Order: sequence, then C-alpha cells, then structure tokens
Amino acid sequence: SLTIGIVGLPNVGKSTLFNALTRNNVLAENYPFATIEPNTGIVPLPDDRLPVLAKLVHTDRIVPATVTFVDIAGIVKGASEGEGLGNQFLANIREADAICEVVRAFKDDDIVHVNGKVDPADDIDTINTELILADMQTIEKALPKLEKDLRGGKVESSYLDAVKKAQEILGQGETIDHAAQDGKIDADDLYDLHLMTAKPFIYVFNLDDGELQDQELKRRLSDSVAPARSIFLNAEFEAELTDLDEADAREMLTDAGLKESGLDQLARVGFDVLGLQTFLTAGVKEVRAWQIHKGWTAPQAAGVIHTDFEKGFVKAEVVSYDDFVAADGSYAKVREEGKMRLEGKDYVMQDGDIVEFKTGI
Ligand code: GDP
Repeated sequence: SLTIGIVGLPNVGKSTLFNALTRNNVLAENYPFATIEPNTGIVPLPDDRLPVLAKLVHTDRIVPATVTFVDIAGIVKGASEGEGLGNQFLANIREADAICEVVRAFKDDDIVHVNGKVDPADDIDTINTELILADMQTIEKALPKLEKDLRGGKVESSYLDAVKKAQEILGQGETIDHAAQDGKIDADDLYDLHLMTAKPFIYVFNLDDGELQDQELKRRLSDSVAPARSIFLNAEFEAELTDLDEADAREMLTDAGLKESGLDQLARVGFDVLGLQTFLTAGVKEVRAWQIHKGWTAPQAAGVIHTDFEKGFVKAEVVSYDDFVAADGSYAKVREEGKMRLEGKDYVMQDGDIVEFKTGI
C-alpha cells in the first residue's frame, strides 16, 4: 500500500507526532493478522459518513479506509554525501510515496534546536537541500546512459528534455513537486528516475498553542511552502488528545477552538496527496470505506473488494451518500425514488458513491 514518510530535523516533534498517530491506531482489530513494522503507523481515514450509515443500516461494524505513515528517523544534514546512515535515510525516503515534513515553529528553551535557533524556513531549506542534492546525483548518474540511449533510438528526445529541465529546476534549489504544481514540469514524465522531490510534500508545522491562534503567522508559513499543503498542529496537544476517549477529546478540541484534530487533518490531506479516494458499501454485515485511486473505473473498484470481481464485473448499482441518507438508508426506497443508478464498466467512481457490484461469478 502507499505510504507517507515522516521526516524532519531532530527535536522538532516527529516522534511525538508519530506516537500520537499510532496510538490512534484502531486498525489492529480489523487486520488482526497483519504484521505491522514498529516504525509504521496505519491510521484510519476520518469519515463522518460512516457512523451515520452504520446507524441507518443497523450495523455495529465500521471499517474505515486507512493511511500509512512511516517514521523515517536518521540524519538529515549531509545525507546526500553520506555513506551508511545517510544512504539508509535516503533509501527509506525513496520507498515512501509522499513526504510529510515536520517543521518546528514552537519555541522552548529547554529543547535544543540542532541549528541553534527556531527558524522554519531555514529548517525546510536544510532538509530539502539534501533531497535536491540527492536527486541531482540521480540525474547526473542517469544522463550518460540516457544520451547513449537517445543516440541508439531507445528513448525519446522529449524524455531527455524533461530530465534536463528537472536538472535545471533542482539546480535552482526548487523541488520537482513544487515546480510540477506550478505547471513548470510534469512529474509523471520523470517517473523512471524515482526522484525524491517529485513525491508530493506535506508540511506539518509544529506550533505551540499561542501560535496556533496566530492567523498571520500561519499564513506566512503556508505561503512559504505553497502550493504544497500545510498543516498546523501542536504535537504534544495531539498526543494528549489521543489519551482521551472520544467525548473528552471532542470537548478538549472545542475548548481549544479547533474543529478537527491535527492528526485527522494530516490523515485526510495525506490520503488526498497520495491520489486516493474512497467508495462506500453499507449493509448489515458492515459499513466500509474502500480505498481506490482517483479516476478508477467501476470494475477496478470491484477488484478491490475481491480480485475475481474485476473480471466478473457486470454492473454496479450506485447511490450517492446524500440520496441514501435522504431515503433513511433503505435501498427499496432509493429504488422507488429512482435514485439507484446502474453503471457499466466505463463508469468512473465518484467520492461518496455507495455501491453494490453485480458480478457474473
Ligand atoms: P524528534 O526528534 O523530531 O522525534 O522530536 P521529539 O518528538 O522527540 O520531540 C523533542 C522534544 O520536543 C520532546 O521533549 C518533546 O516533548 C518536545 N515537543 C514535541 N512537540 C512539542 C510541542 O509542540 N511543543 C513543545 N513545547 N515541545 C514539544
């Protein structure tokens, strides 16, 4: 499954955040036989629709979609020129599908900052420079063979042009993700190179409670990394939240003037940048959110429930979440009202589809 690697300088709150994420892990009960690595946290994708559906169809069992985080510990500065630890650090990032960069903005004189001062922009620069340098090495290593392949007619000149464009962007200190979001380059063209900075980035700014209320500061920080996505949270507060039961946690959030926990925001944004979406099934056995890639068709989605369903796909009966709720969760009423759609094999799944697949097996 797709994973999000958590990186950051030492003492910025990575472990605090990761531990909070994994304490939020309600998944063990749904996947009792899965072996989960200690540095991997599989967290539920928050979805307010699931309890509503469960009530309507009278089931207790809710299975949410999941988001997988990997804690990538290790050195940052000098990683691109390092042997051993530096290589391991970069290898772990290469395996992740998106990068969650934790950046310290909270000030606490008791907690040493590796660079001697709390400076979010400087920290981001330190980390991104290592990733950019490593990507430049990847390109430098790949270029001689690419030039040869071009002469041999094995690659298109447009591909070499894209690689050189990437080299130029990196040389200016910009990540490929950033340039791609600005429309300067198509990251898909560079897929073969597995560049680290071509992965989607999410920036998590770890703030103290006072700073969390400072809209001006938050705007400045998010502008500094835009168009990449930013999340603002207090990692210690998030850790405290996970110790509470749901009602108390909700109260603590409301008291802090927050609508949603930072962990929930992170799960949602992470799921989104990975290019994932869900569709829903609702029956007496369970209510479940299934994860698929954005743009997948009905047969592909059916294949997630059971591999044979993709080949055996005949049609999908689809009702939107809103129509299903309006019909009090009664499939009979949905049909009566003409709100049940029959979709064929070319149908592209939409978020919030409640589906039953008809198969020929
Ligand atoms: P890591 O090295 O990035 O994994 O950082 P840790 O999660 O171990 O945090 C380093 C120290 O900073 C620990 O003592 C944490 O308790 C503390 N810390 C983490 N988040 C916050 C925060 O939001 N505010 C404050 N004041 N301290 C924090």
